Amino acid sequence: MSTFNESKCNYTTLLTDCHLEALKKELHLRERIVIFIQQTDLWELVKQVCVRFHERFVRGNNEQDLLLGPLVVPLEFSYNALRKFDEQVLSQLIREPTYCEKAFREVILSIANTIFTRLEPPFRIRLEQIYCRLRIKLPPQERYLFRTQPQNVPIGLTVFRCVVQGYSSPQTYILQSIWLCPNDPHLVTITGEIRRAPKCDECGTTLQEHQRIRSVSDYCTVRVFSVESLQTPVQVGRIFQSISVRLADDLCQQLRLGYEYAITGVFNPVNQLFNAWAVEEI
Ligand SMILES: [Zn+2]
Repeated sequence: MSTFNESKCNYTTLLTDCHLEALKKELHLRERIVIFIQQTDLWELVKQVCVRFHERFVRGNNEQDLLLGPLVVPLEFSYNALRKFDEQVLSQLIREPTYCEKAFREVILSIANTIFTRLEPPFRIRLEQIYCRLRIKLPPQERYLFRTQPQNVPIGLTVFRCVVQGYSSPQTYILQSIWLCPNDPHLVTITGEIRRAPKCDECGTTLQEHQRIRSVSDYCTVRVFSVESLQTPVQVGRIFQSISVRLADDLCQQLRLGYEYAITGVFNPVNQLFNAWAVEEI
């Protein structure tokens, strides 16, 4: 039996029909995302972001550390344009925003590395360096509304109609940190915000941060009440729960107290924060 047949045989036993179906779906989503990016002005934008990344590297006298920096890609698109282009991608984005965001990052990584490997000197970056800022405003239709019912909170992409009760001042957070192994400085780990130094995958030694190339960004937290709760009479002994909204990066801004906003975003049940993707004053 040839090697080819052997490996084919192994794959057949490893991949059940169910796996294949899941893989096909994943590939299909990525394929649709590539086509969407190509057919809109996002293609030009991604190229510009990559060119600027490269220019910074050249200006920095080809300092290798600069190749470990974040590649921030603002992906702003309209609900109507995406709906017209591909209703399936839109509905998946609404149903599984975190999963779709990862798919976008993987697509951007492959576009970026195609560009970077054709440059002089050629190089590649990693998935951990890609930050897609997906920005889309959902229309405030009934089916998309974020509602805060106890034990039943939507975790897809929703639009939250709310009134601002208070906000924090802008804070800094670590977007990306670079860690080196003292035993082998070529082993580089890239992570986001962490509380404790990670350990080396190879030797288990505690890694040391490469402080000089830490990347930071801004965020602020806004405390809001849902518009719904303001329209419902208060019962004695009960109180409406306010929600914290996280406005990060380009969205870090102070909203106006007492004003109504439609905030599109994703609720994270673990830290109870509603992460904004777009903010609109009503
Ligand atoms: Zn190590």
